[in-house]
Amino acid sequence: MSESETELIVGIDLGTTNSLVGVVDSGFPILLADESGRRLLPSAVSFPEGGEPLVGEPALRNRSLLPKTTITSVKRLMGRRPAEVENEDLSYEIRSGSDGFAEVSIQDQFFRPEEISALILKRLKATAEAALEEPVKKAVITVPAYFNDGQRNATKRAGELAGLEVVRILNEPTAAALAYGLDKLGEQSRVAVFDLGGGTFDISLLELREGVFEVVATNGDTRLGGDDVDRALLSLLTEKLSLSDLSGEQSATLLEMARRAKEALSTEETFTVQLPFFQGDQSLTCEVSRDELERAAQPILDRVRKPCLRALADAKIGDAAEQLDQVILVGGSTRMPLVRRMVAEIFGQEPNTTQHPDEAVALGAAIQAGVLCGRVRQVVLLDVTPLSLGIETYGGLMNVILPRNTTIPAKAGELFTNPVANQEGMSIRVLQGEREMARDNWELGYFTLAFEPGPKGSARVGVQFEIDENGILKVLARDTKTNQDTVLKIENSAVDVEDEQVEAMISESVEHAFSDMNERIWTEAKMKSEEMLAALDMARAALGEALPEEEKATVLSAEKAVREALNTEPPDAQKLKQANQQLDEATEPLAALLVEKAMAQALEAQMTAPSAES
Ligand code: ADP
Ligand code: MG
Repeated sequence: MSESETELIVGIDLGTTNSLVGVVDSGFPILLADESGRRLLPSAVSFPEGGEPLVGEPALRNRSLLPKTTITSVKRLMGRRPAEVENEDLSYEIRSGSDGFAEVSIQDQFFRPEEISALILKRLKATAEAALEEPVKKAVITVPAYFNDGQRNATKRAGELAGLEVVRILNEPTAAALAYGLDKLGEQSRVAVFDLGGGTFDISLLELREGVFEVVATNGDTRLGGDDVDRALLSLLTEKLSLSDLSGEQSATLLEMARRAKEALSTEETFTVQLPFFQGDQSLTCEVSRDELERAAQPILDRVRKPCLRALADAKIGDAAEQLDQVILVGGSTRMPLVRRMVAEIFGQEPNTTQHPDEAVALGAAIQAGVLCGRVRQVVLLDVTPLSLGIETYGGLMNVILPRNTTIPAKAGELFTNPVANQEGMSIRVLQGEREMARDNWELGYFTLAFEPGPKGSARVGVQFEIDENGILKVLARDTKTNQDTVLKIENSAVDVEDEQVEAMISESVEHAFSDMNERIWTEAKMKSEEMLAALDMARAALGEALPEEEKATVLSAEKAVREALNTEPPDAQKLKQANQQLDEATEPLAALLVEKAMAQALEAQMTAPSAES
């Protein structure tokens, strides 16, 4: 398949501070630049009075003059309620929308965070379309590993509002690990992803299992990043220049200067701050060294330590961090030499610095997008089963083997037996869904496994479900006596399910949770009754007249109660469970008698049988 024949999917890092878009081109992931050659788009949107919204750099320039109508860090609001973000230091107003979620309020207009994010995504889409000279309709978008369902859905909606079908929401640390090529490490490799951006710090520990990254632990600080270093440097500069009573605009200029100085000091030893016409016609200049910056930044950056140690403890790596296979750096702020030294010290090893840290997430998103549209051959799948998979068991119950949201590829199995005597085989009905009763779930396939008839519980059938990276489900049933296998292959249907159908199934399962559960308890109790009644008949036949009169009577009345409960309309699961328990207790002496009798018989047999030993 040539590249032009495959459908195009772009990868997007929708960041708190900066956003980027990338794609796989001729087998290589690349990031796309706008008309002025910039790949980093500041995640800022400004709403000038009576004009079209501005996005990116021009919006950022408005921030100091129009703080109330310039929206930055909108990612912090995605899928959140006002109470959850009340401590955020935002320059603009927010309110609670009709559904309780936060909305940005600009003069008398209100915007959902996803509508603002959509403007950023639209800009990235346009950048990509201009660079690639073809329409862009699909995207992979990254989110922090700790984002909950609501935040992920809000991100998806933002994409849709921007005219993009979001084919995958990808965890940022996973994307970064892909960009660093860590999917080529061996099985069970463990890596730490240290991400220090503009306003957030995230530490994630990942483990590579069967070619898929799993997030084992995450921690961080949602209010720690390069912006804090900028503010510390701002105070240092104010002090050095003996400035006081700065206007809003002056502090904004100085803050911008501090950021520039900080970024330059990642590679230079000193930097000259120049502020032309800062106070009237007076220009100011002063020199700062990396040393001074580091002394000001140290107490702030020290705050990365605790989250790292916690994540290591959660992942049960504890103080053996040097055994991690890699530590990778993500986020613009990890360009600071001080940060790199701290990471080396905390993790007991030099971090991998082979990628641009502020581009790694976008690059990884581009790789994942390339895989999804067939531009990258190698298989890296991060799919999950959208619904539970299982088989029908005796009594019409659903027995889940692979629960919903299992990462694929996956394999799991269970051992089953014949519930009634003299069965000649077992029917395996493969089901998908969240309901307790088999009949309410969807049937994906059906087959029978024959085995030798025998007493109840004598057959041993192993059933194994295996989904490969292409979403193909293989159901294998094995008669463990003969080792005979029967295999059923089910093409993609186990994984490719329409989103609406998944949602309908899940909401039905919630809606019927109570009645479903009752029916399961009833069915299980009924099976138990049938089992006990059958055992009772056998015991009576075996014991004959050996049973004392008074016990006979108690057993008889307990038996009657069970039969009555079985015929109660509507079914009363609790009543049947109680009757079962009484019958169980009433038949205890019977069981004891049976054991006695069996022992006596065994003893007799021993005395009459010839023995090998003398
Ligand atoms: P986010 O993930 O928050 O969207 P980024 O990963 O793009 O953001 O990080 C932005 C932060 O990185 C800003 O605080 C910026 O000042 C900082 N940064 C960018 N380049 C450098 C550099 N060379 N040295 C130090 N910090 C830098
Ligand atoms: Mg980021």
